Amino acid sequence: MTFQNTLAFAQQLDEQDVLKKYQDEFYFPKVNGKEVIYFTGNSLGLQPKRTQRFIDEVMKDWAELAVEGHFYAEKPWWDYHERLAAPLAKIVGAKTPEVTVMNTLTVNLHLLMVSFYRPTKKRYKILCEEKAFPSDQYMLQSQIRFHGLDPNDAIVEVKKRDGEHHWRTEDVLAKIDEIGDELALVLIGGVNYYNGQVFDMKTITAAGKKAGAFVGWDLAHAAGNVELKLHEWQVDFASWCSYKYMNSGPGHASGVFIHEKHLNNPDIPRFEGWWGTKRETRFLMKPTFDPMENADAWQLSNAPILSVAPYLASLTMFEEVGMEALIEKRDKIVAYLEFILHEIDAEVDSSFEIITPKDRGCQLSVFLHGQGKSLFDFLMKNGVITDWREPNVIRLAPAPFYSSYEDMYHFGQLLKKGILENS
Ligand SMILES: *Cc1c(COP(=O)(O)O)cnc(C)c1O
Repeated sequence: MTFQNTLAFAQQLDEQDVLKKYQDEFYFPKVNGKEVIYFTGNSLGLQPKRTQRFIDEVMKDWAELAVEGHFYAEKPWWDYHERLAAPLAKIVGAKTPEVTVMNTLTVNLHLLMVSFYRPTKKRYKILCEEKAFPSDQYMLQSQIRFHGLDPNDAIVEVKKRDGEHHWRTEDVLAKIDEIGDELALVLIGGVNYYNGQVFDMKTITAAGKKAGAFVGWDLAHAAGNVELKLHEWQVDFASWCSYKYMNSGPGHASGVFIHEKHLNNPDIPRFEGWWGTKRETRFLMKPTFDPMENADAWQLSNAPILSVAPYLASLTMFEEVGMEALIEKRDKIVAYLEFILHEIDAEVDSSFEIITPKDRGCQLSVFLHGQGKSLFDFLMKNGVITDWREPNVIRLAPAPFYSSYEDMYHFGQLLKKGILENS
């Protein structure tokens, strides 16, 4: 399709958009009385209007039933979280028993490392990407120190090549080869938060497994954004937060995947709590732990219902639409945004550079050569919510549920104005 950088063309694309009606399903913040152009769904997705209903239901049940709500609420709380597994399994390419919802992402990665990072004298190294999301770096370092090892020795980072902005799969594979039988774990962010790159999870997982390591993925920027086939790829474990592309609200519950082959496997240890025991006998308060036969065995506490309910609300939308339609729109709207960036770049001769490789999801990261933070401030003041990453990168992530082609057009015009006014 040949794109045009005109309002009429953008509006025409919106008319053809089968997801168009979902724009009305979300609340948009306003700047100067006008709804913003929202590019930070990769950081915190917008609030779906239907979420309030799911929260109100819990509040009402709590008011009217109090403790009885655990069993007699509209959606009883004691197994509330189980409702999320099936819809989530579809999104991440898993079998339903392989998925659960609990805690928050960094907490879950720590818990999963209890199960899947058990270093021996020989096999103790962890492979990750250089400049991983800070929380992941702190998590890996502290886990390694917890085992009495030295992070400088145990963490091996795959670097980008000089002058390149993305990681090459061949370089990841070469590192796996090089570490060989010292490799205990591969743990990488499936979609990089900074450059928006989608790693070749299938190939890297296969290579890590072949080297005899466990392979896990942090899917914070991948869940609800890109196609995942965690079961088929033989991924050992994964976790993701729900508040980015999945629109569940700030700090809300996180998803966990544990491959079927590790369920009911006594060789895989874990930290345990009462919500991981068999549901049938949970309230008999027995002294011995009798694990659930699915990923729920990793549950510790009774679920934070007010954090899980908004996630369920959001999942009803994914159920209605399906990942396929989201991905189709994602590719088209990101391509349109890319086209507009090139058009504006040519018009104002500003030389910015898209550092996101072709393996991408919703996000384009743009290196603004020669443009200061003043351009970012201009955009924010004029109703474009984006974010700034040092040294000079803005991240633009249109979300297929609620971003419009018209937004992309208006953004281009504002960008042009900003560059001209700021140069
Ligand atoms: C957003 C993000 C996190 C956030 O972790 P929380 O525990 O939810 O605060 C972690 N890792 C990556 C890669 C992220 O993008």
